[in-house]
Parts: sequence; C-alpha cells; structure tokens
Amino acid sequence: MALMKSLGNVATWSTMRRGGVTVQLRDRYLAHGFLYRVRRGVYCAHGVDPSVRDAAAHGGALTCVSLLQAAGIWVLHPARQVHVWLGKGGRAFEHTGCRCVVHYSSGRPAPGKVDVALALIHLHHCQGDEAFICSYESAWNQGLLTAADRERIRAALPKNARWLLDFAVSTSQSGIETLPRLRLRPYGFKVASQFKAGRDEVDIIVDDCVLVEADGDENHSGPSKRHKDLRRDARTSIEGYETLRFDYRQIIYDWPTVVAAIMAAVERARARR
Ligand SMILES: [Zn+2]
Ligand SMILES: [Zn+2]
Repeated sequence: MALMKSLGNVATWSTMRRGGVTVQLRDRYLAHGFLYRVRRGVYCAHGVDPSVRDAAAHGGALTCVSLLQAAGIWVLHPARQVHVWLGKGGRAFEHTGCRCVVHYSSGRPAPGKVDVALALIHLHHCQGDEAFICSYESAWNQGLLTAADRERIRAALPKNARWLLDFAVSTSQSGIETLPRLRLRPYGFKVASQFKAGRDEVDIIVDDCVLVEADGDENHSGPSKRHKDLRRDARTSIEGYETLRFDYRQIIYDWPTVVAAIMAAVERARARR
C-alpha cells in the first residue's frame, strides 16, 4: 500500500482514512496479512522497522538514541532498548517483549519517528553531555541539522548545557573525533580541530605542536590507508609536529592512557622550545 509506505509503514486509522483507505480495503489487507494491528487504532504494514513498530505499540514514536542510530548518526551508547516519545503525560500501552525507555515532553506524537532535532533533545536528557555532543556533531556533519534545528535544540537544552552548542563544529565525522576535543577542555590546553599542517588536514592539534588523530575503524583499516597515514606522519614530522594516533577502543575504554600520552608529548614539545 503506497500510502502506508509513505508514512513509514505505520499509521493511525484516522490518518489512513484521511488518505482514502476505506474500511473494506483495510479489512481486505488485514485478511491477507499485508497489514496488521499493533494496538487499537494503529496499524503497521510489512517492512516496518521493528523498533518503530514497538514504539507504536507502546503508544508513541521512536526517538532518542534509537532514532539517531536508525538515521545513521554516530552514537556513544548504542540503544539496547527502544526509546519512545509519548508526549506530555501520554498513555503507555502494554505489549509483548516491552523493555521500552519512555520520554515524556510536550507535543503529540504520531506513530513513526520523531525528527533528528527532537531525538537529540531527548538524547541530552537521557544520556548527558558527551553522548549528546557526539551525535549532534555527527548529525550536523551529515547535513541532517538546519540552522533552525540548531536554534530549536539550543532553546530546549538546559541553560547550563548550551555551551555545548558553541563548542560544536560541523567537521567532526564521528564521536571518535568529538570526544578527545571535548575531554581535553578541562586540562587547559589550546585545542583546535581540522588544522592544516603543511598540506595535510589533521583532526586535532594540541598546544600548537601535538597532532592527535582519532582513527575510526571504518576509515583507517587496510594496508593502503595505513600507508597513507604513515606518509602523512612523516610529512608532518618534517613540519615539526609530533603525531599521536588513537583508535576507538583506546578513546572509549582507556581515556586515562590517551590523555597521559598527550600530556607527555606536550611536555616534550614545551621542553624543546
Ligand atoms: Zn514498550
Ligand atoms: Zn532515551
């Protein structure tokens, strides 16, 4: 059914009726198994994303980390449960296998997915500053946030979190680039991102002397990429920089070692000046 497809394969009966679906047609689709009821007045068609279906069964729309993940946005803590927006004081419904995380905030959800901006607002509430800024920068980098979206997020965030929006850049491709910048702030280093060292662009430069490269698995695997990285490290060394490379697991699970390595490199560079 083209109408259901255009609605993300989930809709309320009133939306379907407004779209021209008659009771007879609906019942025929139900009888043939093309359509099924997830709860009273809400129907899904085949091909519906299972997390969208569960959110609809629960009484709301898919949001927060679940929505961001489905949209291909980088997330720090991947969703183990379905995150659902129920609106303000919306009613929750029981359904099989329910382990949903529920978000209440003003508005009236239609079954389906919330937009990226609202999902980010919910994410900040749910998982805090670090998870928020990683996904925010990833969404911005992918062109999924307009200026109006960014203003809307700024207005919705608590006042003490709005500095994150001033800190954010659109050039960060993943949280692996975002996190070191964020976590180096309290140390008082001068930190800049997307810095030009000779002909090479580097992720982060600390104290004008130490280059920090965050290697995401997908971008830096394979011998040809490794060769490119090594050539680049040689060039930037000639320019007078020291390069430190860290991968996902180091940045996420062993930050103390990462920051100790950066501090030691900065000390060495200061001693040479
Ligand atoms: Zn549920
Ligand atoms: Zn959440």
